[in-house]
Amino acid sequence: MSFVALDRLVKKQLIPETSAARVAFLWDEIRRLKKEKRAFLPAHNYQLPEIQAVADFVGDSFELAVKSRDIDSRLVVFCGVRFMAEGCYTLAPERPVYLPSLQALCSLAEVDADEVAERQDFLRSLGRNFVTMTYVNTYADVKALSDTCCTSSNAPKIAARLGAPDILFVPDQNLAYQVALQTRRMYLPPPDPHQFSPQEYKERIEPLMREGERQGLVGNVFAWEGACHVHHAMTLEDIAHIRRDDPEAVVIVHGEVRPELQEEADEVMSTSGMVRYVAEHPEKKKLAILTECGLVVRLELENPEKQFYKPCRLCRYMKANDLENVYETLRDEPAERRITVPESVRTGAALAMQRMIELAT
Ligand code: SF4
Repeated sequence: MSFVALDRLVKKQLIPETSAARVAFLWDEIRRLKKEKRAFLPAHNYQLPEIQAVADFVGDSFELAVKSRDIDSRLVVFCGVRFMAEGCYTLAPERPVYLPSLQALCSLAEVDADEVAERQDFLRSLGRNFVTMTYVNTYADVKALSDTCCTSSNAPKIAARLGAPDILFVPDQNLAYQVALQTRRMYLPPPDPHQFSPQEYKERIEPLMREGERQGLVGNVFAWEGACHVHHAMTLEDIAHIRRDDPEAVVIVHGEVRPELQEEADEVMSTSGMVRYVAEHPEKKKLAILTECGLVVRLELENPEKQFYKPCRLCRYMKANDLENVYETLRDEPAERRITVPESVRTGAALAMQRMIELAT
């Protein structure tokens, strides 16, 4: 989005007119410092538009992981959330990685690694032939327990290439549904969060597994009990509202929305899939995109000839980064904002991330 001019952001009320001079100053300073320090500044699609505008690369978590690994720079200021900065460090630990705000976390990533290990033991006790597939929205200790990572853009593709019939899918219960659907596996809904009772869970899933066998499905997806606070809060009424207002609008949802919304939408995809879809369908002039608002703002700025409905929501974690803390981080390289991972954990996490990259490309 580096082509976005300041006056367009002001005109669209994305930044107040009173802040325009400060934003212009910060952009100049950030560009100068990036050059001087040979710093790389990647930004996730959900970051504020004034951050995306000054970033070196904007994309989804998979694109950012690959790009950040391959780029030759002295340091990285990662404009995203903590698990992404951790992933960047995991793949290239020789280079300092900074996160502009330590509040930039993620509701999905808060998974207890011990609980994952217990669930793996439970599945082994049932005699299941399974692999553990972990969404990149996790911290390194959970990635290190996994056979492979995935993102929303490649989860079904990776699942289809794995050898085992069953998948323990951690942590997004809704993306687990999409993986099951696209790879002909039975979706096994998650147990209650933090109340895992092996006996109760077993009684709940066994009839579903038998039904899957009866239908001749490939295997099962055991969903973890995590959810994204942005996408999980979206409702069928959000879609119904759009359909009532404009039946011609194409309704696109992210794979992290609840299963019933995935069934009701016209398309289900990742953020990079949404960007591609809009670019590859010039004839689709009206679109309703159910994901975090940062992406919808980006699409609006890049496609002024199209009309976007915005049943989107804000991620408080993504919005913890702003231009001021990006600038301070680049200028001062504060030790407390430097993201690292213990080496004993990093190597296992790196293997799972590398496997994702190999399977997805
Ligand atoms: S939008 Fe959801 S998945 Fe993405 S960082 Fe925010 S809470 Fe995490």
